[in-house]
Amino acid sequence: MDLTKIRNFSIIAHIDHGKSTLADRLLEATGALTDREKSDQYLDKMELEKERGITIKAQAVRLTYKAQDGQTYILNLIDTPGHVDFSYEVSRSLSACEGALLVVDAAQGVEAQTLANVYMAIDQNLEVFPVLNKVDLPSADPHRVCEEIEEIIGIDTSDAIFASAKEGKGIPEILEALVKKIPPPKGNPQGLLQGLIFDSWYDSYQGVIILVRIFEGTVKKGDKIRLMQTGGIYEVNKVGAFSPHPVELQDLAAGEVGFVIAGIKVVEDAKVGDTLTHHHQPAAKALPGYQVVKPMVFSGLYPIDSGEYDALRDALEKLRLNDSAFSFEPENSLALGFGFRCGFLGLLHMEIIQERLEREFNVELITTAPTVVYRVTTVKGEVLNVESANMLPDVQMIQQIEEPFVLASIHVPNEFVGAVLGLCIEKRGIQREIKYLTANRVMIVFELPLNEIVLDFFDRLKSISRGYASLDYDHLDFRTSRLVRLNVLINGDVVDALSLIVHNDKAQYRGRDLVATMKEFIPRQQYEVAIQAAIGNKVIARSTVKALRKDVTAKCYGGDITRKRKLLEKQKAGKKRMKQVGSVELPQEAFLAILKIK
Ligand code: GDP
Ligand code: MG
Repeated sequence: MDLTKIRNFSIIAHIDHGKSTLADRLLEATGALTDREKSDQYLDKMELEKERGITIKAQAVRLTYKAQDGQTYILNLIDTPGHVDFSYEVSRSLSACEGALLVVDAAQGVEAQTLANVYMAIDQNLEVFPVLNKVDLPSADPHRVCEEIEEIIGIDTSDAIFASAKEGKGIPEILEALVKKIPPPKGNPQGLLQGLIFDSWYDSYQGVIILVRIFEGTVKKGDKIRLMQTGGIYEVNKVGAFSPHPVELQDLAAGEVGFVIAGIKVVEDAKVGDTLTHHHQPAAKALPGYQVVKPMVFSGLYPIDSGEYDALRDALEKLRLNDSAFSFEPENSLALGFGFRCGFLGLLHMEIIQERLEREFNVELITTAPTVVYRVTTVKGEVLNVESANMLPDVQMIQQIEEPFVLASIHVPNEFVGAVLGLCIEKRGIQREIKYLTANRVMIVFELPLNEIVLDFFDRLKSISRGYASLDYDHLDFRTSRLVRLNVLINGDVVDALSLIVHNDKAQYRGRDLVATMKEFIPRQQYEVAIQAAIGNKVIARSTVKALRKDVTAKCYGGDITRKRKLLEKQKAGKKRMKQVGSVELPQEAFLAILKIK
């Protein structure tokens, strides 16, 4: 294929600025979608994504576009996930492109993720050009936002396109700009094969499908390929492209984007960032940028009904088939019985998996509060990765504990700066930078312990900024910290699933707030329920849920039977998410009370 007729591009945007809507418009305008498909956002495939309005998996779509110069071009649109948890995947997707559309909401302006993504694109030497979206909104002020883009990002906006993805305005201009502004790919189809894997997923009929960008050489059916990082050797069954439906092709050559199916059984063997080459005539070296992504946030997942343990394991295995960043292993809790300790890239990743388990696999879960990975050095010099409070060795065995820190950048309007600084300091943050991006928008950069972020940082940030703050973060390093294990006792017994690792200086008030919050969530029962927080053997806080005095149905005076039944049913429904711990029934909320502290 003629390289000068190919354009590989990506759309980068902050969440909700209109990336998916715009992508669908481009598909429509190039005739890739049927009428039925136009009705819903095609690129956000999974139901869950649609509901939350986020794009999780990167996708690549091949569009055919006849430009004003009379020539026909292949436009490969590579969609990227739009969340901080998936920044490695974003970086790999971007490196498969030569250019990117920078979509900015003309009413909102530049946000934290706009910046994080645009810097990544600039780092990869992509040609970036701005599209001001949502100009149909009465509050849109595209000229002001253009100034913002010039000031903050430093890219020229004199040719910025004013668009409304919703109304279809600006779409022809965008297509022309793609052809004119983005450089065509380079590469030699006769060279030694180098293909970048930028996404992979499992298909129950075909096995693993990998999306690749070919940089050098050509791959075709029947080729023996090798994945240079994992070392696996496979035979290619099929190559092709999505347009947006899968179409088989003769080959994929340097400059092209498409899929390869090669009898790979699990996604773990086709990792994002790996390089595909020929087994017999391999490239001298792999493409740069490969990383092994590691889970950063852990939580325990337990079936409510212990009879569902096997079903839960099956469901986790199925999810893992498609998500090599997610990990799980069996865990045994005295309080909750048999379950799994699961590792996630971040909080959003965790929520997505939990929701999918319940929705697609119908497993009802009790989940424990999320925790980060701590690095513990014992007095014997052993280094342990501690993923749950229960794995923490006894105090006298510990030489030091280190916790992960992140570099967080927060964008807020002026008026919220004080509140955000207060929050970051409360969360043990170390200030790095405060920068006025424009007269009214401020970027605040802090080093923060990830441990504080996984608790309630997002919610607090949103509420103190009335929803205006946006956040992005990168992992920094591990730092020594004075951390202790906080235990929760219910009627005198330690409930292991409720134990937490907290900073020593905060243990006292965390403990106090925690027992007070739990009290609100634990319903009255036949017995009095005592809730205590303790560090080691030292109880630091206590609250009590009084015993139930009378049957709730007594209120019905035995008269109206339907009302009585309704009440009983309501009680039963309320009980669904309960787990019997000793003699006490604990609702799901009690396990997550630490996240709900005000
Ligand atoms: P993404 O998170 O960047 O993929 O954003 P979406 O494409 O999902 O859009 C977020 C929301 O903005 C949706 O409710 C869209 O309908 C809406 N939206 C997208 N483009 C426009 C536009 O041009 N004008 C208006 N008024 N709304 C838009
Ligand atoms: Mg989207």
